[in-house]
Amino acid sequence: MAPTTMRAARLHRLGEPMVIERIAVPEVRPTDVRVKVAACKHVPNLHKVLANRQARSPELPLPTLPAVFGLDAAGIVDEVGGLVQNFNPGDRVYVNPGVGCGACRSCSVDRANGCDNFALVGWFGFGPDSHRAFAAYPIGGLAEYLIAPARNLVRLPDTVTFEQATRFGYLGTAFAALKRTRAGPGSTLVIDGATGTMGLGAVLNALALNVGRILATARNKQLLARTKALAPKRIETWSFDDGPAGAWIKKCTDGLGAHAALNCLGPGSSGNTIIDTVHSLRRGGRFVNIGGTSGAIPIDLFRLMAAQIDILGNSWFVTSQAQEMSDLAALGRLDLSVFEHQRFGLNDLNAALVVPPVRNGGFTSLVAVPS
Ligand SMILES: [Zn+2]
Repeated sequence: MAPTTMRAARLHRLGEPMVIERIAVPEVRPTDVRVKVAACKHVPNLHKVLANRQARSPELPLPTLPAVFGLDAAGIVDEVGGLVQNFNPGDRVYVNPGVGCGACRSCSVDRANGCDNFALVGWFGFGPDSHRAFAAYPIGGLAEYLIAPARNLVRLPDTVTFEQATRFGYLGTAFAALKRTRAGPGSTLVIDGATGTMGLGAVLNALALNVGRILATARNKQLLARTKALAPKRIETWSFDDGPAGAWIKKCTDGLGAHAALNCLGPGSSGNTIIDTVHSLRRGGRFVNIGGTSGAIPIDLFRLMAAQIDILGNSWFVTSQAQEMSDLAALGRLDLSVFEHQRFGLNDLNAALVVPPVRNGGFTSLVAVPS
């Protein structure tokens, strides 16, 4: 039996540090499960990130404060609701924080990210009615327990640690986007921003899904070398320190261009890099964006039409895709051993925000351990 109260990190005001306090342990409803959180992704400067996001993107609503944030939690099922049939206490799970209403046209075909209520619990919302998802699931992963719909659980094999599972949000987004590129064994795929958290997840998934050749771009040559070492025969790298990558991509593909590209560049990246990559695709190519570049960029639509180029945006993933990814990890196809984890207890969360930890791009993972 879980205790009646638990420790949680709550944000009371935007821009201020989290407050570590005791709140009630959430009760389990019939179709929900309660999970004892073993690990949760830790976003550096979370309180500032949220304050900035609110200012920059008011259309992405935050939950009502005070709120327990914390995206991408993993842990052990503690209790299941009376109508839950497929999970049991003791199961090791990752909790997909993407919650919709569960019963609209999008949700009923396993596309909660198309739901008006869609929100990432413990983070922010995407839809006009996200507040309804936050009201139903108010607790993120920076607490000892959380509740989630049973349909949002992803089973973890024993070989995947809880710390590794906190990467499933980024990994899952890259996985979903990768499927949309339609890249396969005969394909050459460009991954821009390949050494960051999202980009490295894309590289690992592309290897797991047997994408033939990966052209990985980023700036840091040391991290690029480390990325190439993951599969030296399948990965080629280019540093933006040596200029734009477009001509190199063409050279790598006998002038034809790549079959597909995944944009994983972070916020503030140049729109010119994106345009350069789009122009380095072969006829019929696909460009999928999961990067943080915001604002308008000039795209020549006539050129895209003539060359049959698709540009797609991908937001998050659905639980079945994360389960497929977890199964690939169980088979040893998806290698999560490359991550270095830095752990913080709830008491150290705010301190961890002040002193920037040593970073090795996407290889480093910051993990909160609430219990
Ligand atoms: Zn819905």
